[in-house]
Amino acid sequence: MIRAAIYARISYDPDARAVGVDRQREDCLRLAASRGWTVVAEYIDNNVSASKYSRKARTQYLRLLDDIEAGRIDAVAIWMEDRLQRQVLELAEFLKVCDGAGVTRIASIGGEFDLSDSEQRTMLYIKAAMAEAEVEKLRRRVLRQRLQAAQNGEPHGGGRRGFGFPGAGKNGITAEQVEQERELIRDVAARVLSGQSLNGVATEWRQRRIRTPSGNFWSPQNLRQMLLSPSIAGYRTHHGNLIEGTWKPIIPREQWELLKALLEDPARSNGRRGHPAGYLLTGLVVCGVCGHRMVVDYNRRGGGRRVRSYKCKHRPAYGGCGRVSRNAETIENLIVEALFVAVESDDFDRLASNHTDDPAREICESLAHDQGLLDRLADKVAEELITAEFAKRKQAEIENRMEETRLRLAELGSARAITGIPRNLRDEWPNYGLDRKRAILGAVLNKVTVYSQGSLAPFDPDLIDPDWKV
Ligand SMILES: [Zn+2]
Repeated sequence: MIRAAIYARISYDPDARAVGVDRQREDCLRLAASRGWTVVAEYIDNNVSASKYSRKARTQYLRLLDDIEAGRIDAVAIWMEDRLQRQVLELAEFLKVCDGAGVTRIASIGGEFDLSDSEQRTMLYIKAAMAEAEVEKLRRRVLRQRLQAAQNGEPHGGGRRGFGFPGAGKNGITAEQVEQERELIRDVAARVLSGQSLNGVATEWRQRRIRTPSGNFWSPQNLRQMLLSPSIAGYRTHHGNLIEGTWKPIIPREQWELLKALLEDPARSNGRRGHPAGYLLTGLVVCGVCGHRMVVDYNRRGGGRRVRSYKCKHRPAYGGCGRVSRNAETIENLIVEALFVAVESDDFDRLASNHTDDPAREICESLAHDQGLLDRLADKVAEELITAEFAKRKQAEIENRMEETRLRLAELGSARAITGIPRNLRDEWPNYGLDRKRAILGAVLNKVTVYSQGSLAPFDPDLIDPDWKV
C-alpha cells in the first residue's frame, strides 16, 4: 500500500481566482485514486500566505513536513495554483523536504510542472529562485515606498504627518491647509530669526488655536524640533547625512542654516552642566575706580533677605580695589530700560537698516554651496564617475570646511543679534531666555562702568555709565 497525503491551500489574494479548498481537495483525491494511492491524511491550509516574510504560520503544511520526515507518508498529491510565484517558491521548498525524506512520489494538479520528471523539477527550482528574488524585490519596493512616505512627512505605519506636509489617508489634509501650514512655518522662521522667542510664538499659536499634526497645542520644544527638521528645507537625512529631498523646500536652505545655528547655539541653552547660568550683566560691568570686572555677590540686609549686587571684589592675586558695589537689580533695570528706549527711537531704525546686509548671509550661502557639492558627490559615485575612495576624501574635505564655516557663523552670533532686535523688544523681553538677553546686550554694549558712591546715599543713576557700541 502506498500511503498518500493530500495538501491543499488557499492563500489570501484578492486578485487571484483562487479555487475553493473543497474543489482542490476533491481534485487531489481523484489524482491519488488514479495512481492507486491510498489517502491516509489530509492537510488543508486556508487563507494563508506562503511568502517567507508572511508571519502567519502554515500549521497544516508544517504538520505535513513533520509527517513526511517521520516516514509516515510515501506519496503526496498537491494542488498548485497557477502563476502564483509564492506557490512555486513553496513547492520547491516542499520538494527539498520530500527529497530529504526519500519521498519521490509527488503529483500535482493545476501547476505547470510534472514533478515526476527530474528535468522539470530542476526548472522548478530555477523558477523558485527567481520567484524568491521577485518577492525580495517587492519587499524592498514596499520598504522604499514607506521611506519615501516618511520623507514626504506622510504617515507610515501609525506615524505622524509632518507639519506643512500633506500626509495621507485619514491623516491627510487639503492642499489649502498645507499651504496655510507652510505659511505659518515661513512666518515663524522669520520671526525667530528676528529675535522673537519660541515661547512667544508658542503662546501666540495657542491663542490662535493652531495645533500640531497630532492635535496638540505647540510647545516651544515642539516648535524648535519642527524648525530644526531638515524636511522643511527640502532635505532628508540618511545615516546622519543631509540629502536633497524630492520636494520643494518650505523655507530657503540658507534661512534654515541660520535657524540651525541660532537654535543649536550651545550658548542658548541655560542648562549648561557645571556652569552657572550667569547674570544679565556679568562680564559687562566694570569698577569705576580700578577698572576691574565686577562680580555678583550676595549679602544680607538687616531683615535677612539676600540682596544681589555687582561688586568689585578685592582679591590679592586678582587685583580689584574692593571699593565699589551696587545693587544688581537696579543697574540691570536701568540698562534694560535704556535699551528699550534706544530700540524704540527713530535712530535705532536707521541703524538697523544699515545692518540689513547680514554678514551671516554670505556664510550661509557658502554652507548651502558646500551642501550642494556633497549632494552631487553621492550622485557621481552612483554614476561611477568617481571612485568611492575619492568621494570619501572629498567628503571629509568638504565636511571639515563646513564645520569651520559653522563655527564662523556661531561667532557671528552677537553681530547677528543686532539685526534681529525687534522693535517691540519691551514686549518680547520677558519671553527671552537669559542667553538671548545677554546676546542682545553684548551686541549693543561695550561695558557699563559703575562709579563709587557712599553706601548710605540714595542710588544715583548718573554714577552708572553705559558705553554703547552704536
Ligand atoms: Zn575696583
